[in-house]
Amino acid sequence: MVSLSDLPIRDDLRGLVPYGAPQLSVPVALNVNENTHTIPEDVARDIVESLAASILTVNRYPDREFTELRESLANYLGHGLTAENLWAANGSNEVLQQILQAFGGPGRSVLGFPPTYSMHSIIAAGTGTRWIAGERDADYDISPETVTRWIEQEKPDVVFLCSPNNPTGTPLGIDTIIAAYEATDGILVVDEAYAEFVPDHIPQAISLLEGRPRLIVSRTMSKAFAFAGARVGYLAADPAITDALRLVRLPYHLSALTQAAAIAALRHAPAMLAMVDDIRGQRDRMIAELPALGYTPLPSWSNFVLFGGVDDPKAVFTALLERGVLIRDVGIPHHLRVTAGTERETTIFLESLAALRA
Ligand code: PMP
Repeated sequence: MVSLSDLPIRDDLRGLVPYGAPQLSVPVALNVNENTHTIPEDVARDIVESLAASILTVNRYPDREFTELRESLANYLGHGLTAENLWAANGSNEVLQQILQAFGGPGRSVLGFPPTYSMHSIIAAGTGTRWIAGERDADYDISPETVTRWIEQEKPDVVFLCSPNNPTGTPLGIDTIIAAYEATDGILVVDEAYAEFVPDHIPQAISLLEGRPRLIVSRTMSKAFAFAGARVGYLAADPAITDALRLVRLPYHLSALTQAAAIAALRHAPAMLAMVDDIRGQRDRMIAELPALGYTPLPSWSNFVLFGGVDDPKAVFTALLERGVLIRDVGIPHHLRVTAGTERETTIFLESLAALRA
């Protein structure tokens, strides 16, 4: 047996820590911002029929261009987008990786604003892209002036913004996205993994694509669509961006089964999204009820809540786990993060937390 340090691994990977959210079997798992609702049974049946048809031709490679899936995604997004504007991969993690393979890499840099989605810097490391950690304003905000200052100072090849941000849940103003685009000559990526949980009628980056060929909006079916296990993420951008991604993706990266399942799920978008309102309701309930337990929740436009006022996050995390409730210690002092689950799960979480206070 050798250890990792005995292997001739790339020098820039030595000592790094992999992504490692605990995967534990517990009654109430609220730790990785999944959609904890299962998909409706009639939708599941339709997906299975599509999978059954697809398996009959699985001896052949899948459509390398996943054209029907891109058409379905364009149709779902609206905003005048067509299949040429869409690209997909096995989760938005892979989408982000392909973006850095094409536009980052050795000798190039990506600017992000921690605390933010932990995979952004891990994907930077994996693709040999230098990670630049910008600093946020108070309350985890990023003003147009702040984003402009960091871009002018660092001149990154790629900028990652996350809206709403993970792990804080906090919104990002569209004026900051516009300012970032204007300040950079590089690629601006807006990670909108939680877009469907944002209040209705709030403009999102997807509405800015027209006339901005260096803007990429990344989204996922993992959250609102309850499709995390199927691994489908996607982006919307100028068609030239997808030409760049064709240079780095592996041929046939989206399996025929993945494509069939996603196309079938998108046929049922309204039914799949019916749970979004429930989840937003449970999120708002936690924000309303946590203060009475002595905690300070941050405003959230996503499907999770970060709350402060936790004297000892490790102790609270462990005590909840002993009660079968798994949440997340994201490493922000005196804070913990919890996913908005079903009404029942939220009740169990709040009651368990209250019991610890008693
Ligand atoms: N972006 C953000 C901000 C996320 O929180 C996540 C998942 N936690 C992802 C991207 C990746 O999701 P997936 O690969 O499942 O699409």
